[in-house]
Amino acid sequence: MNASGPRPSWYETTQVADEQRPRLNFDLDVDVCVIGGGLAGLTAAREVARRGWSVAMLEAGRIAAAASGRSNGFVLPGYSEEIDPMVERIGLDHAKELWALSQRGVDYVRHTIAETAMPGVEIGPGWLRVAKTDNWHELLAYVERLRWMGGEVEAWPVERVREVLPSERYFGAIHYPGAFHLHPLNYALGLARSAEALGARIFEETPAIELDPAGILKRVQTPSARVRARHVVLAANVQLGALVPKLAATLMPITTYVMVTEPIEGLTDVVRFRGAVSDTRRFDNHYRVVDGNRLQWSGCMTTWSADPRRFARALTASVKRVFPQLGSIRVADLWSGTLGRTLHHMPQIGEIEPGVWVTSGFGRHGLNTASLAGDLVARGIVDNDQTWRLFAPYELVWAGGKLFRAIAQGLYAAGKPFDGFRQSLSRYRERSHKRRSAHIEAKRLATALGAAPLAAGERDASVPSSGAAPMRHDPEPLPAAGSSRGDER
Ligand SMILES: Cc1cc2nc3c(=O)[nH]c(=O)nc-3n(C[C@H](O)[C@H](O)[C@H](O)COP(=O)(O)OP(=O)(O)OC[C@H]3O[C@@H](n4cnc5c(N)ncnc54)[C@H](O)[C@@H]3O)c2cc1C
Repeated sequence: MNASGPRPSWYETTQVADEQRPRLNFDLDVDVCVIGGGLAGLTAAREVARRGWSVAMLEAGRIAAAASGRSNGFVLPGYSEEIDPMVERIGLDHAKELWALSQRGVDYVRHTIAETAMPGVEIGPGWLRVAKTDNWHELLAYVERLRWMGGEVEAWPVERVREVLPSERYFGAIHYPGAFHLHPLNYALGLARSAEALGARIFEETPAIELDPAGILKRVQTPSARVRARHVVLAANVQLGALVPKLAATLMPITTYVMVTEPIEGLTDVVRFRGAVSDTRRFDNHYRVVDGNRLQWSGCMTTWSADPRRFARALTASVKRVFPQLGSIRVADLWSGTLGRTLHHMPQIGEIEPGVWVTSGFGRHGLNTASLAGDLVARGIVDNDQTWRLFAPYELVWAGGKLFRAIAQGLYAAGKPFDGFRQSLSRYRERSHKRRSAHIEAKRLATALGAAPLAAGERDASVPSSGAAPMRHDPEPLPAAGSSRGDER
């Protein structure tokens, strides 16, 4: 971190040129009015315009300045919800259809980049979801279930994982070769340019302050003008607030924190995997190499928006725990972003009353699902395509207000010691196993040589270097519950 503190966002310092768009200061009639210029709104506007309908987008601030331009940039199949509860709730066939749609979101992003020859998005291939416990059989079973769903995944054993991510904290992993990562802000800006080229009109610094959804033409009021439209798409994520309070109350705001380091010498000799990596199922430790020699790392979670500088130390400490060999790390950029999570962890996509559409609640899987939502809603509006109804089992559910936010924060904090203990236990088991193997090997050699068993003090030096850890006689104490540090999930 330099004297004046970290820069606000690595994405902003590396974004492609983009002109500020005008405010709306004249009344306008259009077929579709989209409220919110994140990935969901931009995709919806682009797809409506592509089909020849008139569309205006109102963005309260700048395009993609909220979650969409601040994310980790991982484009992954699936949803924030895990597959097992999905199958339990809606059955295997329906869950498979939803999985295929999540993959369609990934394909949409990839295809759009190619179709528009989008600059500055810098795609990196693959996603590794790494386990920090020695749960190989569980992992294999999960991979099999993902394959039933239609997932393109492979199980990587510990040796293969540590070849590309040499950390004693890592065990097996699930590799998603079809996933990728990109520069999310440049992707969103490219999407906006493409939507405009197709005829969409985008107004920045134009908040929708009132919505009258009655009648054939819905009315959207902004500070200086109003829009009348046959369809309105609510794509405002957690900032929707007072415009439609009941809908806003279905989202729990979750803020997470992201840093990009100063260049690290030898980074790619340690982090050799070129794709995206997640080593928890929750909010901590999602990372990738950017700009050739910088590490982008995200973690920590609050149900309120806090100053990102408070988390710089926690983030660098997480890196050091996983990769101590990287040495000292300095933060160059540090920022936060807020995503909207639903109670059922699935997105809200569809028509909630005639002509009023919603696309929100994408959680941590917004790159694929916000893209999918924008596309499905545009098809629903213009082509009367009913595919969005596949999300009908996941209704709008109140997210529990302040009480549930406090509970979510408490669960996040309380789960850490437990997960940390399980991870320490896995590492302890691995070390014990290595010591036992070394002991057996030493005995075998001693027998083969016909020599007397070695004296205790001679053993370490005499064991041939087979890669196993040196033998010790003092049994290592078991890790104590709660002894592990917080971010190890
Ligand atoms: C730190 C972080 C990391 C993430 N990493 C990933 C990742 O790696 N992969 C992944 O898939 N997902 C990730 N996500 C989630 C993903 O970024 C979001 O789910 C997704 O971008 C949400 O898109 P959106 O269009 O719904 O909302 P947003 O991007 O939040 O856009 C909503 C827009 O609506 C505007 N708005 C609000 N109210 C009004 C109004 N009244 N009038 C006009 N405009 C309004 C806001 O200004 C905002 O620009 C991450 C999120 C965060 C915060």
